[in-house]
Amino acid sequence: MVARAARAADLADLDGAVSDCFACPRLVDWREEVARTRRAAFRDQRYWGRPVPGFGAADARLAILGLAPAAHGGNRTGRIFTGDRSGDVLFAALHRAGLANQPTSVAADDGLALRDTRIFAAVRCAPPDNKPTPAERDTCAPWLHREVALIRPTLRVVVALGAFAWAAWWPVLREVYGVRPPSPRPAFGHGAHWSGTTAPALLGCYHVSQQNTFTGRLTPGMLDDVFARAKQLAGVD
Ligand code: SF4
Repeated sequence: MVARAARAADLADLDGAVSDCFACPRLVDWREEVARTRRAAFRDQRYWGRPVPGFGAADARLAILGLAPAAHGGNRTGRIFTGDRSGDVLFAALHRAGLANQPTSVAADDGLALRDTRIFAAVRCAPPDNKPTPAERDTCAPWLHREVALIRPTLRVVVALGAFAWAAWWPVLREVYGVRPPSPRPAFGHGAHWSGTTAPALLGCYHVSQQNTFTGRLTPGMLDDVFARAKQLAGVD
């Protein structure tokens, strides 16, 4: 799988290859079981039930790194953060920031397009309880590393949604940029900021999960502040 990721010549190639990955038995079972059983509200739909590739601009200056697809969101629609409440919050914010052409993301063919921005997850298959194991995170990492390598020429800023994504970023420094990650690792927090000399800046943002947005831990204003900062660091108007 590492070799398949490394061989991907461009994003389309990578997207195709990751969609056909079966490297994690537990996650393969889960994504397929969810696709078979479905949620009542989506019973008439055919679930994607496979790994979910990244989405967005090939010349992205700004990337958003999430945890993993949602069982009835990305795992249903085939597009990351699409068809779930987390995506509703995220894409509304990206639209306010001028980075998305529409405020909603409901289906893979809904016309959504991103400007200067790419979104991907540290783990590409929906995990039970949204909790991948460390082994699954590490198994999936080569897909993330290759995706970052392919957009490296333009990438300036990464927004990590939550502590899992924040932690998943550090190995990218070694694998893609050939630099040693800072030690000790900077702690995750909302608004946390790390910058190196050759690698993109990293910004921390609470995850757009319902747990955070319904409780007011993460508000639309807080998201707007993060994306304004990210745009500034990335040089995006
Ligand atoms: S989580 Fe990643 S490595 Fe594991 S099966 Fe899915 S795409 Fe493959």
